[in-house]
Amino acid sequence: MSDQQRILTGMRPTGQLHLGHYLGALENWVQMQHEYECFFLIADYQAMGDHLDDIDLIQRSVLDVATDWLAVGLDPEQSSFVIQSYVPEHAELAMFFSMLTSLNQHRRNPTLRAEIGQLESENQAITLGFFNYPISQAADILLPKAHLVPVGEDQVAHIEYTRDVARRFNRRYGEVFPLPRARVGRVPRLVGTDGQAKMSKSLNNAVYLADDPDTVQERVRRMVTDVTGQNPRLRAADPGVVEYNPAFLYHDAFNDNPDEVAELKERYAAGTVSDSEVKERLTDALNRFLEPIRERRAWYERHPDYVRDVLLAGTERERAIAQETIADVRQAMRVVYT
Ligand code: ATP
Ligand code: MG
Repeated sequence: MSDQQRILTGMRPTGQLHLGHYLGALENWVQMQHEYECFFLIADYQAMGDHLDDIDLIQRSVLDVATDWLAVGLDPEQSSFVIQSYVPEHAELAMFFSMLTSLNQHRRNPTLRAEIGQLESENQAITLGFFNYPISQAADILLPKAHLVPVGEDQVAHIEYTRDVARRFNRRYGEVFPLPRARVGRVPRLVGTDGQAKMSKSLNNAVYLADDPDTVQERVRRMVTDVTGQNPRLRAADPGVVEYNPAFLYHDAFNDNPDEVAELKERYAAGTVSDSEVKERLTDALNRFLEPIRERRAWYERHPDYVRDVLLAGTERERAIAQETIADVRQAMRVVYT
């Protein structure tokens, strides 16, 4: 176990998980859990950054996220599920790292800038807690000295920053941290059902892993098939555009019958299949994909105490490692007085 390379990655407890999480992250995690020692973090501190008015949602979602993780096949015997705030060393390391980060560098982070823009457009206050979250995330990754971070594309800038902090720390105080690498999933960024660039809990444009078959059908029925809004397809006899069409992006990602997808694409371009038939086939494909996840999820939903035990056990495993790292950091920074 101990000579395996380590992974730390995670999610925010801000709602249930969706198809974007699956493709951008979970699919990779499930495969990688056998090759790496994995820490999967439920980042509740980070969720408070922009959901402070919705603490109930955060509280509920901690268990929901863990339930979704178990349902997609993460194995808590192999990997540790960790509640961020139950390991306060995450906050301690973030505080040390905040000393190593200049305000100007921080302000240049492109993902942070985009998210601040989004919050401002919704007239939400930007708290210092939110503004600091890339630092907090660097601390999350480096606390267990992770080598690899499997994430969606929107997170890559944060991993770059994490490498930078590790490099700066090591140069100044001696080698303590590895320089972690990002690994992006098969589909780096899944579009939303509304055609927006990213399927996201916050944008209400998701298909959730826990959706029942009728809900999936309804979400697919309302899905846009033209992201530009300039090629609305009114009749099945109109030739359609397959490229950048969310319905076909989802078919490519989830339909286990590639011959059917190829045939639908051909007929779509030729104007011999309706949007509604493409969507019916997509609904069926998504429901085939989701059914085993739903079944496993139902079992874990009936056994919340098991899920809580998984969380506490994983959290304890990480905490022991976190305490070692903090001891190394204090030694290196000479924050030792007795
Ligand atoms: P929020 O809108 O609250 O930030 P989120 O949907 O972005 O929620 P996070 O918990 O921030 O979810 O992200 C968890 C992981 O899932 C990250 O690695 C992120 O890159 C990945 N991810 C989230 N949405 C997508 C998506 N649409 N496509 C690919 N990866 C995604
Ligand atoms: Mg996010």
